[in-house]
Amino acid sequence: MTILVTGAAGFIGAHVCRALLDRGDAVIGLDNYNDYYDPQIKHDRVAALCPDADIRALDLTDRDGLAALFDEVKPDRVVHLAAQAGVRYSLTHPHAYVDSNLVGFVNLLELCRHRGVQHLAYASSSSVYGDSATPPFSEDQRIDQPRSLYAATKAANELMAHTYAHLYGLRSTGLRFFTVYGPWGRPDMAPLLFSRAVLAGRPIEVFNHGKMRRDFTFIADIVAGVLGALDHPPADEPPHRVFNLGNHTPVELERFIAVIEQAAGTPAQKVYKPMQPGDMVETMADTARAKAAFGFEPATAIEAGLPRVVAWCRDYFGDQA
Ligand code: NAD
Repeated sequence: MTILVTGAAGFIGAHVCRALLDRGDAVIGLDNYNDYYDPQIKHDRVAALCPDADIRALDLTDRDGLAALFDEVKPDRVVHLAAQAGVRYSLTHPHAYVDSNLVGFVNLLELCRHRGVQHLAYASSSSVYGDSATPPFSEDQRIDQPRSLYAATKAANELMAHTYAHLYGLRSTGLRFFTVYGPWGRPDMAPLLFSRAVLAGRPIEVFNHGKMRRDFTFIADIVAGVLGALDHPPADEPPHRVFNLGNHTPVELERFIAVIEQAAGTPAQKVYKPMQPGDMVETMADTARAKAAFGFEPATAIEAGLPRVVAWCRDYFGDQA
């Protein structure tokens, strides 16, 4: 099986590449190595996790380059993880989201359709649930009230994928990830921001006065879910589905920080702040649908997963934490 992984140098992408290679798939990756966060981390991540993956420097908005890549590698399946991520950044950089998440996505859909890709598994997000959903979020709750442009582009991806399934029979699966963390994680997200700051004795900003609850999900569980979904293309008509991939166990920020403090062996200096625009107070995945479809069962509590992040930060950033 030849699998194209977009966003292959990203946090989730590099871990997915590793898992696909380990089970014997041929993996071609693409990534534009953008500077949303330090691109050196992306290069180091690839060197550490999947140096044996063939990853091309390519932007999804480069239609000719993308078409040439499809013609060359003829992927059977596509795992689409490239996107402009981040809720807060979407308040200040709206066009990055339109370019990568909308224009890039339709470029990919067109090629999957015209080049006979058997199944497209793509990243959506828990942020699509927005204002109207109540935890635990199940896939049939409304997603038409997003709280940020980022969330709006992810909800739009689901509509676009549904349309291509309906019109052209393109099989696709949307995966709503819930706050993913782990070694080689994203430096813009709380697990790494907090771990680095606590290790270095810097203050951390605790939004909504610590009263936020997040369904933090460990990377190994997410990778298992991505592969499970990829291996089970939808058979329904139209052939498009969405799944929550989360931990089903929301954790209050204060408890999350306490686990980091314990792993770091030093107390956090907390600076309490109000709720940020675009943020959600609580996320919690109902994972029954993914369990029924491909046996998804997250297995990692934060007490097991977070110390691995702290250890990784200590190792990777050292004195620069
Ligand atoms: P990431 O930023 O580490 O990885 C995304 C990668 O895509 C980056 O390496 C980036 O360089 C690349 N990229 C961005 N725009 C591109 C473009 N136009 N062309 C080619 N490459 C491009 O983020 P991640 O955490 O690994 O997220 C992977 C996917 O999962 C994203 O779609 C993200 O929106 C989604 N997601 C992540 C989380 C999470 O908690 N990490 C939660 C919900 C959804």
